[in-house]
Amino acid sequence: MKIQNIRGVGQERALPTELGLAMHDFMADLFPLCRSITGNGVRETLADVGKEIPLEIHEVPSGTQVFDWSVPLEWNIADAFIKDPSGKRLIDFQQCNLHVVSYSVPIHKKMTLADLKPHLHSLPDYPTWIPFRTSYYRENWGFCLSHKQLSELPDGVELEVCIESTLASGSLTYGECYLRGDTQDEILISCHVCHPSLCNDNLSGLAVATALAKAMAKRPRRYSYRFIFIPATIGAITWMARNEAVLQNIRHGLVITGVGDQGAITYKKSRRGDAEVDRAMQHVLRYDEPGHRVIDFFPYGYDERQYCSPAFNLPVGCLMRTPHGQYPEYHTSADNLDFVKPESLAGSYRHCLSLFDILEHNETYINQHPKGEPQLGRRGLYRDLAGQQESKMFELSLLWVLNMSDGAHSLLDIAERAGISFATIHKAAVLLKQHGLLQAVVF
Ligand code: ZN
Repeated sequence: MKIQNIRGVGQERALPTELGLAMHDFMADLFPLCRSITGNGVRETLADVGKEIPLEIHEVPSGTQVFDWSVPLEWNIADAFIKDPSGKRLIDFQQCNLHVVSYSVPIHKKMTLADLKPHLHSLPDYPTWIPFRTSYYRENWGFCLSHKQLSELPDGVELEVCIESTLASGSLTYGECYLRGDTQDEILISCHVCHPSLCNDNLSGLAVATALAKAMAKRPRRYSYRFIFIPATIGAITWMARNEAVLQNIRHGLVITGVGDQGAITYKKSRRGDAEVDRAMQHVLRYDEPGHRVIDFFPYGYDERQYCSPAFNLPVGCLMRTPHGQYPEYHTSADNLDFVKPESLAGSYRHCLSLFDILEHNETYINQHPKGEPQLGRRGLYRDLAGQQESKMFELSLLWVLNMSDGAHSLLDIAERAGISFATIHKAAVLLKQHGLLQAVVF
């Protein structure tokens, strides 16, 4: 993969094109693999991720009880087709893995189009697109094809229908990259890895999460970071059931999904609504993403609904661009490598790094000279740059930090109250700390 082209931390912001292209290349490598909620497609995907970042692979046997669910049988597929009487493949899994309903049981028989039709799925409104369909928890089989292909299937002849799949006891596979920080407090990043050749929905989150893990591995970290690559729903439930002890360490979390299309960012708040991650992400977007949207939590969507289930109520939000179901390409063959843009991937990645910056540095301080303002000029903190806008803003930041640092307001609180970016407020706090004017509060 090509994420190794990504430069060191600090440089990546200056190189959005190169970074975006690297992530897009990575997605192109993973695109052909036939992923599902279990099986070799997930294993091969995680093996590729594991070449980029330290990834621990977990296999959880079929039948394992995980909260109210149990790990399903493992599904694998070698081939599938619909052939005409001359033996010509009219529908060919080797051409596109979306052609088979995910988790289809094996079948091999001759049948007429009339008998086959209940097992065929197409999109009349988008006649050249192939839909993505699944049947995870009900044994069934089916083919997905473009409406054009459907209209061209010959009637009145015997068609040879074959799905060479296995549905058998095996395991559910997920990957975990844990980066130990100075504390056990954790930031959880979660993405799903269970869709076949679909880009925005699954591969974009996977590529951005991989690049983020790679960047964070090189950074000093107050927090520990846990990146999990899991099949949606059953994977999140399985991971939580096996990691209940870890959950209490999670201070902030983010589900990353659908972050490669050209729409503006949508941030879905955690169930709590006012968690630090919610406030920090909104701060990032206010400064860096014109046209972004912030939406309240609702119990549908991606794995935030598992993390935010009532027993855990974790502070986990969801970062996406156009929400799922709100673009016609969603769950179709049109969600392909052309649909996702390198600059969108790079922008999403940058927002996540900015979020981490805030969370890492959002400390609370106590002004060591709170009786009146400390004399800044004597300490060289008022510079001779009078009149320069940037310097005025910085001096204002110094005053805001001094005034609000009473042990009850974090730097993010101050940035919000002052209407100044967190980066500037943080820079002011670092300088004041260097001059002995601030003492961090340890909670
Ligand atoms: Zn999906």
